[in-house]
Amino acid sequence: MIDLRSDTVTKPTAAMRQAMATADVGDDVYGEDPTINQLELRAARILGKEAALFLPTGTMGNTIAIKLHTEHGQEVICESRAHILNYELSMMAWFAGCVARAIHAERGLLTWRQIEPEIRKLGPHCAPTGLIEIENTTNMAGGCVYPLAQIREIAEGAHAHNLKVHMDGARVFNAAAALGCTVAEIVAPVDSVMFCLSKGLGAPVGSMLAGTRNEMDRGRLLRKRLGGGMRQAGVLAAAGLIALEQMPARLAEDHQHAKALAAALSGCPGVKVESPVETNIVIADVGKSKLTAAAFSESMRQRGILFNPISPTKIRMVTHMDVSAADVNTSIAAINEALHA
Ligand SMILES: *Cc1c(COP(=O)(O)O)cnc(C)c1O
Repeated sequence: MIDLRSDTVTKPTAAMRQAMATADVGDDVYGEDPTINQLELRAARILGKEAALFLPTGTMGNTIAIKLHTEHGQEVICESRAHILNYELSMMAWFAGCVARAIHAERGLLTWRQIEPEIRKLGPHCAPTGLIEIENTTNMAGGCVYPLAQIREIAEGAHAHNLKVHMDGARVFNAAAALGCTVAEIVAPVDSVMFCLSKGLGAPVGSMLAGTRNEMDRGRLLRKRLGGGMRQAGVLAAAGLIALEQMPARLAEDHQHAKALAAALSGCPGVKVESPVETNIVIADVGKSKLTAAAFSESMRQRGILFNPISPTKIRMVTHMDVSAADVNTSIAAINEALHA
């Protein structure tokens, strides 16, 4: 099977499995796991932040960040398709006591012009804004990338209102590959950032949260409260170190593959690819083609290719390191067979 459902399906490489088998470990709740300590230092260095925290999932990273920056009864401004709003079981309400103030933005990319009018002060009717969250790349808006100037403008505006900005950078390394800049340049203006080791970077488990030393010290306690105090998790961090240091260099290949899939889809009658494909995610509307999203996905499954319908008319395909150039060609041939009359 060629699995285009998500980049979460990537399996650890031989080098990762080798590093996991030989990792130096200790009890991380005592701060004594040398491999986790090394991963946290490396991640902080690469992101240009004071400190970083190793976490089992990205959801836990976003949950901790929202709790760090807000108080109960506040609003979190985010885009309407945001992962924190739609795919994290209302963690901002469950753990931080906050509600989302969702704004719909073209390609999922918020602008300061859209955000500023939605900032609220505490009043007889209004809950105050506690945090601004941006997602980079935008998962359900087609893997779009925030231009650096747009992030800077949002952060400057937010800070002038005494508000923090958290970046859900699950795929921020894809954003850096697309822009040809460093991840540190992308996240410099924001106060905290979460990214996933377990997606395009190929680690079996793990995400990182980065920010100030003080925030990460408080974050460590919140991680424990959420049941994320792991022990000899250096076996996971060992794979994470390889994901962090060696895997970003190959992400551009996934982006080329996604562009090739998008071009094939665009060439089929009645199919519209949502936004120009910049990274490893393709969202296409097949509503005017001969198949519904579910029927298209089923017909491709029978040809050995997996991806998910995300609405009655839309499908999403995600490329990653376990999808080869040959797999992309096979997928393109199958797309043409399934969708041409
Ligand atoms: C995958 C993802 C997360 C975190 O997901 P986990 O499965 O909890 O690791 C957060 N935000 C975005 C945009 C994602 O794609």
